[in-house]
Amino acid sequence: MQTGKMRKQRLSGNRHAGYGSQHGAAGKATEVDARAGVFRQPAMQTPVLVLNASYEPINICGARRALVLVLKGVARTEEEQGAMLHAARMRVAMPSVIRLLEYRRIPHQTRALSRKNILLRDRNACQYCNIVLTAGELTLDHVIPRSRGGLSTWENLVACCHNCNRRKGNQMLHELTDMKLLREPRPFSLHTSRHIMRMIGSADAAWRKYLYFESEVETAVVTAA
Ligand SMILES: [Zn+2]
Repeated sequence: MQTGKMRKQRLSGNRHAGYGSQHGAAGKATEVDARAGVFRQPAMQTPVLVLNASYEPINICGARRALVLVLKGVARTEEEQGAMLHAARMRVAMPSVIRLLEYRRIPHQTRALSRKNILLRDRNACQYCNIVLTAGELTLDHVIPRSRGGLSTWENLVACCHNCNRRKGNQMLHELTDMKLLREPRPFSLHTSRHIMRMIGSADAAWRKYLYFESEVETAVVTAA
């Protein structure tokens, strides 16, 4: 893998691909190694946010991997960490956020349909009254009741508090005037992974604008619906 290759080159003091000095022509392995020390493991392992060509966040990877993608011309740096990587003929800013140059279709992640995953998707909030409760205080509601042919699917199961569950009973939503879903239930997908990325990224100011962009769009869509 690239990672191993880069490390080997650094150790052998290869000034073309390793972490050489700006005037690495001297080529002394000791000097190169000393310079390499500037980029200790933490800098190369710093998490980097990966955006799709459309600016949608799609992944998190280590700085080393991100740098390889940038150097290969697959991605470009959108935000920098602040540290610089010095190579023989160039100085490269260590990325904090990179963006793929070509759009990649991201397949839906398939996750097991389980009570735990439904609660995770719905963030432990009753999907009718929005009250946030512990897993033990929530139940699962079939939007179309089982007694009326509703299936146990991602699209038909939502987190629900006992109050709302009781009120809804075996009725269809269109039969109730005072109850409606906060959002349309969807399969546990990238959408939810982004929520996780959002939490990881909340400490990094440079990530925020990319991570919160999506939630703003979502809010707008929900309001319009
Ligand atoms: Zn409720």
